[in-house]
Amino acid sequence: MIVTPKIRGFICTTAHPDGCAKHVAEQIAVVKGRGAIANGPKKVLVIGSSTGYGLSSRIAAAFGCGAATMGVFFEKPGEAERCGTAGWYNSAAFEREALADELYARSFNGDAFSSEMKQQVIAAIKADLGQVDCIIYSLASPRRTHPISGEVFKSVLKPIGQSFTNKNLNTSTGVVDEVTLPAAEGDDIAQTVAVMGGEDWQMWIDALLAENLIAPNATTLAYSYIGPEVTWPIYKNGTIGKAKEDLERCQRELDAKLAHIGGKAWVSVNKALVTQASSAIPVVPLYISLLYKVMKPLGSHEDTIEQMDRLFRERLCSGTPQADDVGRIRIDDWEMSADVQSAVAQAWEVVNTENLKELADFEGYQSSFLRLFGFGLAGVDYSADTNTGIGVPSLL
Ligand code: NAD
Repeated sequence: MIVTPKIRGFICTTAHPDGCAKHVAEQIAVVKGRGAIANGPKKVLVIGSSTGYGLSSRIAAAFGCGAATMGVFFEKPGEAERCGTAGWYNSAAFEREALADELYARSFNGDAFSSEMKQQVIAAIKADLGQVDCIIYSLASPRRTHPISGEVFKSVLKPIGQSFTNKNLNTSTGVVDEVTLPAAEGDDIAQTVAVMGGEDWQMWIDALLAENLIAPNATTLAYSYIGPEVTWPIYKNGTIGKAKEDLERCQRELDAKLAHIGGKAWVSVNKALVTQASSAIPVVPLYISLLYKVMKPLGSHEDTIEQMDRLFRERLCSGTPQADDVGRIRIDDWEMSADVQSAVAQAWEVVNTENLKELADFEGYQSSFLRLFGFGLAGVDYSADTNTGIGVPSLL
């Protein structure tokens, strides 16, 4: 089948298997190019491992630290005449590359929020790894079915207290206009916390601890975002920010629970980057386009793989995590530096449709977005027939 991008708003409904494989290979090359990561974990479970920060975490763990990895994701498999999702093809490529390097890799496709998935992974750890020494929690989901009550929760991206109006970029057309987001109402906050807060992370760690599957001195990490004030009404101070506060509450609880085995729980605050999750957040894509324009010439721009490589290499495994005053790892440090933020803030004030190309890296945004789905990668023949039905080796 010949696969071309089909973009609907902030999602692309097709994905290119060879392009996704190339994207994964390029990420592996970044990590390998920086050399082996000393003192890294050796048996790593990544929950949300198929795209974005979770995929890059799995790549850094496997190809940087030489770790055996288990990955959990929720993706649509490809068929002969129908595209699978990018995360499916990424995971297929990841496993092929891991096998070629004689690295253990096993994947699970299904709902990470469910008890069934936790039990499947527990059985696999018992059978194959004995214990895990690092658990990365990198889920981004619009909904969650609670494993005990069966209630379906939906997360919303809304400001709290009052509506919020600001500039917004239409990432398909390049038009900068205004968006007004209504304030959260009813149980919007509780629903969002139930999906994107810490409860499920806690359930995973509790389930693993109950079976003695967490090795001494293990670490567990979940990811958060803070960002600049211009995004605070929709992010840090909005419904998603409340969920991230809950994640931090959970981090403190998990930290205490892991203390008896010398373990540690972390929240790592990561940089704003184009991922399937972030492209759905109003206002943020314009901020990211301005940010890329400022950071690229400074040489401080990173994508998910450079971020996760730095997180492992320079913070987690180096013994110098450089936690902030409330105990979070700040790998968003280069994004949040004063010079970068003041340049972005100045551009934010004046950016409009006419000067977008001059002030923002709109091309960079669009190409990063397409790359998430395997399009626009060098060396891939997009006019050739490709096999959309390829499988993930451990799931065959
Ligand atoms: P993403 O959309 O690229 O990845 C989400 C992952 O979760 C995928 O592997 C997907 O398959 C998996 N997933 C979703 N629902 C699932 C389910 N029910 N069961 C199993 N797997 C499921 O997202 P991302 O941007 O990499 O976000 C990951 C984390 O990083 C989130 O906590 C997010 O808030 C945080 N973060 C993102 C950014 C950013 O700019 N993208 C910045 C800082 C922090």
